[in-house]
Amino acid sequence: MIYTADVLVIGGGGSGMSAAISAATSGASVIVLEKCPQVGGSTAMSVGSFTAANTSYQYRAGVNDSIDLFIEDMKVANGPFEARENTELRRVLAENAGPTVEWLSSIGVQFLGPTPEPPYEKPRMHNVLPNSKAYREALLRECKKRGVTIYTSMRVDQLLRNAAGEIIGAAANGQNYFGRRGVILATGDYSASTELKSQFVGEDAAKVPPVNPNNTGDGYYLGTEAGGVMMQMDRLYEGLRFAPSTRPDPIKMLPSVPGLTRLMRVVVERLPKNLLAYVIRGALTSWIGPNNTMYAAGAILVGPDGRRLANEDSDKVMARAVAATEANTGYMIFDAKVAKQFSAWPNPVSTFPGVAYAYVQDYKRFRPDVYHRAATLEDLAADLGMDPAALRATVQGWNGHVAAGADPEFGREHLGDGVTEGPFYALGPMNAYVTLADGGLAVDTRLRVTTADGEPIPGLWAAGSTGQGGLQLLNHGLHIGWAMISGRLAGRHVAQAQNRVDLKVAEAVTTR
Ligand SMILES: Cc1cc2nc3c(=O)[nH]c(=O)nc-3n(C[C@H](O)[C@H](O)[C@H](O)COP(=O)(O)OP(=O)(O)OC[C@H]3O[C@@H](n4cnc5c(N)ncnc54)[C@H](O)[C@@H]3O)c2cc1C
Repeated sequence: MIYTADVLVIGGGGSGMSAAISAATSGASVIVLEKCPQVGGSTAMSVGSFTAANTSYQYRAGVNDSIDLFIEDMKVANGPFEARENTELRRVLAENAGPTVEWLSSIGVQFLGPTPEPPYEKPRMHNVLPNSKAYREALLRECKKRGVTIYTSMRVDQLLRNAAGEIIGAAANGQNYFGRRGVILATGDYSASTELKSQFVGEDAAKVPPVNPNNTGDGYYLGTEAGGVMMQMDRLYEGLRFAPSTRPDPIKMLPSVPGLTRLMRVVVERLPKNLLAYVIRGALTSWIGPNNTMYAAGAILVGPDGRRLANEDSDKVMARAVAATEANTGYMIFDAKVAKQFSAWPNPVSTFPGVAYAYVQDYKRFRPDVYHRAATLEDLAADLGMDPAALRATVQGWNGHVAAGADPEFGREHLGDGVTEGPFYALGPMNAYVTLADGGLAVDTRLRVTTADGEPIPGLWAAGSTGQGGLQLLNHGLHIGWAMISGRLAGRHVAQAQNRVDLKVAEAVTTR
């Protein structure tokens, strides 16, 4: 059987499904090939925040924003990384973020917000309701409505070229699929590729496991083997997170059907602030980690053996040290002083960005699985299954370093006040994860994959993380934004491309 459509999309996450819907809305027939048994990718695992300017949510909240202000704020957030920003793509992102939030709303995705997200001057964060699975449900529903054909459990391992060298299709599970007008790579990032992490960031980083084990960077291999180039592959989001709670969360269990989410938004927008914060703390059930300001105040990181693991000044260093433990496990230990300090604003343990803050007592209430408190260090150690003598020795040693004003073990600079006053606390187990990997294939402003010389590769587009093209995306809510924006644009551009005359396979461009 021959599978041919106008547009072939590889990857059924946020960018791939947005591309498919956009192409179908432009009148093209579309096939999506998804490696996993179900679509969604990292998009459906995320917190789900989407940062955008000039949305109806902002208008309703009385926020007067502009594209230029958005861009200026991104410059501030970039800091030293501004020098390597792809400013052309950033303008594409800034101009299309608002319309894309509206588009998502029109297909049944509801948001809460906009909420502030420093250092941005204007509130721009739109938080998806009830959770990021709503993206998957709405995009999938719309794909079906628009007649998009989706094949799951279909891992693409080759691109196909015709005699003219144009990309005309892809192969998965030994079967060829063709896109007459073009092929879009939307396979997510490379946070699960030991090889790419090791090559571009280092061996230690490669040992930190990904949140999404399917992000094996396939599109990067497919794209480069077709003549594209990877760029800015040196930044991973490594950190310590609590594994998602298994406690049922009524809010998150709500189905994301359009009528219900619309009602939820209306209700949630009218809740008194305290009640709203309570509702949003449901986010504590998802992948979340404690702020490193707790270490600066005095907390320490220990392994399951009760010994300190690393310099707590750096998320990256801590993540790598925890990943190197046998069980990829660490605990934050602190005393009554730190617990008191992190019981009220402005010192949250963690945030659900901009909307609600979670303090020590919230962890007691909502995450009893990772909250530990005991009158003595020995009791705390017993609760954690650690050797009491080892934890006591670690804390005594640490308090000695604090008194001496230096950390000879790991060179930590922000020492804090020591772990001296009972009761004593622990948060954990925490595990080290790579949440996402920045970098991507070089693309032009029409999302065409380009060679090192900037020449578009005929027939090949990329979107989402695979087509990040040197964008920095250094604030919350920009990765999801880019996935949907670039997907929509790529879908539209491919749908407008001419049919390729020759769909005969001349060469299979193989990846591993
Ligand atoms: C825990 C977590 C929280 C996050 N929170 C946020 C947030 O709040 N805001 C934000 O902006 N960003 C957030 N992110 C990042 C954001 O989710 C991603 O950057 C974004 O969703 C990427 O979208 P994508 O379409 O490029 O990739 P994905 O959504 O990952 O989709 C890629 C798809 O391609 C498929 N695929 C891969 N290889 C192949 C192949 N060879 N053949 C066929 N299919 C293939 C995958 O299975 C997957 O379904 C978070 C990420 C994580 C993990």
